Amino acid sequence: MAQVSNWQLGRDMEYPYEAPRPEKQFCMIMDTNKCIACQSCTIACKSTWTWGRGQEYMLWNNIETKPFGFYPTGWDVNVLELLGEQEWEGDVYAGQTVFEAAPAGERVLGWQPDQADWAYPNIGEDEPTGDATEVTYIPDKPHSMMWMYYLQRICNHCTYPACVAACPRQAIYKRPEDGIVLIDQEQCRGYRKCVEACPYKKSMYRPTTRTSEKCIGCYPRVEGSDPLSKGIPMETRCMAACVGKIRLQGLVQVEPDATWSKDPTHPLYYLVQEEKVALPLYPQFGTQPNVFYIPPRWAPRPYLRQMFGPGVDAALERYMRPSRKLLAVLQLFRASQKMIFKFDIREGPKVGEIQVGGAPLELFNDTAIGYDSQGREVVRVSVEEPSFERRGKVNSL
Ligand code: SF4
Ligand code: SF4
Repeated sequence: MAQVSNWQLGRDMEYPYEAPRPEKQFCMIMDTNKCIACQSCTIACKSTWTWGRGQEYMLWNNIETKPFGFYPTGWDVNVLELLGEQEWEGDVYAGQTVFEAAPAGERVLGWQPDQADWAYPNIGEDEPTGDATEVTYIPDKPHSMMWMYYLQRICNHCTYPACVAACPRQAIYKRPEDGIVLIDQEQCRGYRKCVEACPYKKSMYRPTTRTSEKCIGCYPRVEGSDPLSKGIPMETRCMAACVGKIRLQGLVQVEPDATWSKDPTHPLYYLVQEEKVALPLYPQFGTQPNVFYIPPRWAPRPYLRQMFGPGVDAALERYMRPSRKLLAVLQLFRASQKMIFKFDIREGPKVGEIQVGGAPLELFNDTAIGYDSQGREVVRVSVEEPSFERRGKVNSL
């Protein structure tokens, strides 16, 4: 067992696989407040990567309605139950990870879904919970009525992947150049230990090839080898299709201890490490996932704390009363097909004042500018949406 540091747990932990850490890490932020569950991302991924025989049930990207949606059935409640109590002492996780709680003879605490568990990817869709007859809607108060929200799910390209740790053939590896986790199809013998171990259930078995498969992070686009990318890192298929503009993706520089190198002008670093407005999904599993979520404003806080950890209240406070800078950076979501490596803000005039939680919030029409991996400007987007006046005769000649 290697002793590794996990910044999401606030402590070191044991991880049963020693390997050099990548220098860069592929990461993504999802803003759950903006998702409309159109499933454009799901279909963009499916029509690109999993349309073949034996992949019929496979959705590397899926959108599920919480609290009743699961793909596969019960994926998270099953692991949570197996893990037992998951206490936090402040920002430090005091419970056990899936590695620390592994049964004797196993490397990871996991469970194996049945065939039928994969058969209902839209189970629970749009079903709320709570009793609307017993509670009154109170503006600005969370969970004062029935609630549900959409959770965007994709492989987390974890820093300490459970799938890598569990594979008896070392067929799964993290790419040194971007931390994307891949399964070597030549090496895999379909033992499904990765399917059992992945707490997010994002490794899937393909019966026609008798191997396991998973999200490949659209790596030709991320590395710039896809002809479309013209050599510049670009966003993945699920992100390019996102109608709700809820996603922001990029590569961050990583230190040998798996913390992020300080880079306050990188939009992902700024949102995750400085503003702390985007949080990992079930950090207590211990895999240090690299997909981060801005939690939904309206769901019960205890539910959200279990799902996104102890940073939920502070993250939502900042999201609901954003600083000028944060409001500007949030405009960069899904604004360019190229990955943004650096941002800059140009200040604009005050354009309004609104009330949030009983206190005034000034709004400024600032502009966020995004730059690609070569330092070239690729996008410029302002807080206030530009409006255009259509001339009277524009549609009739
Ligand atoms: S989410 Fe699951 S499949 Fe993806 S890297 Fe993490 S452990 Fe592996
Ligand atoms: S494309 Fe975007 S808005 Fe639509 S379901 Fe996917 S994440 Fe949500």
